Amino acid sequence: MKKKMRVVIIGGGITGLTTAWWLQKAGIDVTVLEQEQAPGGTMRTVHKDGWLIESGPNSALETTPLFQTLFDDLHVRGEVVYANEIGTNRYIVRGGGLHPLPMSAKKFFQSRLWSASGKLRLLKEPFVGRAKKEETIAEFVHRRLGREFLEYAINPFVAGVYAGSPEHLSVRAAFPKLYALEERYGGLIKGMIKGARERKQRAETAKDRARMFSFVNGMQTLPDAIAAALGERVITGTVIKKIAIRGENDAVVYEAMGKRNGEPCTFAAEVILTAIPAYAAADLVSPHNHAVGETLNGIFYPPVAEVYLGHRTEDIRRTLDGFGFLVPAREKRKILGTIWSSSLFSGRAPEGHAALTTFIGGSRQPELTKKDDAELVSMTATELAALMGVKGRPVFHRVSRWLRAIPQYHLGHLERMETVERFERVHPGLFLTGNFRGGISVGDCIINSEKNAERVKQFIRTVQA
Ligand SMILES: Cc1cc2nc3c(=O)[nH]c(=O)nc-3n(C[C@H](O)[C@H](O)[C@H](O)COP(=O)(O)OP(=O)(O)OC[C@H]3O[C@@H](n4cnc5c(N)ncnc54)[C@H](O)[C@@H]3O)c2cc1C
Repeated sequence: MKKKMRVVIIGGGITGLTTAWWLQKAGIDVTVLEQEQAPGGTMRTVHKDGWLIESGPNSALETTPLFQTLFDDLHVRGEVVYANEIGTNRYIVRGGGLHPLPMSAKKFFQSRLWSASGKLRLLKEPFVGRAKKEETIAEFVHRRLGREFLEYAINPFVAGVYAGSPEHLSVRAAFPKLYALEERYGGLIKGMIKGARERKQRAETAKDRARMFSFVNGMQTLPDAIAAALGERVITGTVIKKIAIRGENDAVVYEAMGKRNGEPCTFAAEVILTAIPAYAAADLVSPHNHAVGETLNGIFYPPVAEVYLGHRTEDIRRTLDGFGFLVPAREKRKILGTIWSSSLFSGRAPEGHAALTTFIGGSRQPELTKKDDAELVSMTATELAALMGVKGRPVFHRVSRWLRAIPQYHLGHLERMETVERFERVHPGLFLTGNFRGGISVGDCIINSEKNAERVKQFIRTVQA
């Protein structure tokens, strides 16, 4: 008779839920434990007075066909909304004004985002050699493309994606595809040309062409639909504080112990997968391996405030013809960037109004997130007035705060992940996942969820063989 195998997933964010979904589809006995009363983790949508507010991710890029599988499995295809075409227009602040990010070679040479010498510097790129050590994204881009491109393209981009600092993020860990262009093809320009040819042969879509989507009722639709499909397999209001290890070798059983709605609880399983932030996983693994706990605790999560403002359309002087804009650090402003939420997707604001979502803090200015809501709203309104010509006070506002928002893949991140892998090898059946490993975007979490499920299935096959 085959050995009974139970899987417990700690953490009901998108990573934990999707991993559970693939396992349930494979007929595996899986339970998800989530500390909050509702699953979804960072993916939270709020509806108020006709406004749709995303307090976490505003959209996702369809970088994997797994999304299509999920849409069908969960019967949410009819709720998917793709970003309006103008969403491909993006702006960068320079000299206090918004400049379109050029999307063609001709527009690049016409752009006023970079000086003539900054643009000419790019011509040297194919002749720059490979790195001799692990580099930050700032070192990598400065070396290959020059300072101006770093300051007025990569710096704002890093703030927009990671809320991070290019001076600390490891290019290899945080931007593996960019790093691979140098490693594989010897340069970015060469890599982009050859890579495009190879993708065409393989009929693949590049990440920069992947479609951006959300749902009619916002991003929370996806975790809600997975949780609904998993039904009783998702147990909310359950915080896990300890993992105990019982038995030895093939007879190891893990126990996830904590509190369920305030009462002590224990869940025994042959497989445990943590899908929680690194600092939360650190608390669970430290008693078994202090060094791994320290490693996980060492991953920095900067704070971010998301300030959502609603304005009358007539109060906004410029046309909201794009995704929004990003702010380079050199511009010394108090915001990281703003998404023109109601231009990107329809149904985000009441008729005659526009919704603007602004990000504040991150690694660049963490101290700003400590301001109270009224100060943050006023500061954002002042910045939007200066940069976009928004007149008057907002008619609606909501502030969301993430004290520890996004894990930063700093220099040495991949070595940290090797420490985690060694820990997993010593404890077969115990897996650590989440957005601190293998990418931070929703798409990365989905891709990783399938890999997690494969690892669990492989482990079960080995034990049952
Ligand atoms: C402000 C912000 C904006 C973002 N914008 C985008 C975007 O536009 N596009 C994009 O692709 N990505 C975006 N991201 C990134 C993306 O949303 C996240 O990386 C992703 O949602 C993380 O999912 P996760 O399941 O790994 O972790 P989480 O969402 O953090 O889920 C972890 C879950 O574990 C639970 N938990 C923690 N500890 C315990 C415990 N001890 N016991 C039980 N449960 C526990 C938590 O309550 C939580 O529900 C954004 C992130 C933030 C913070």
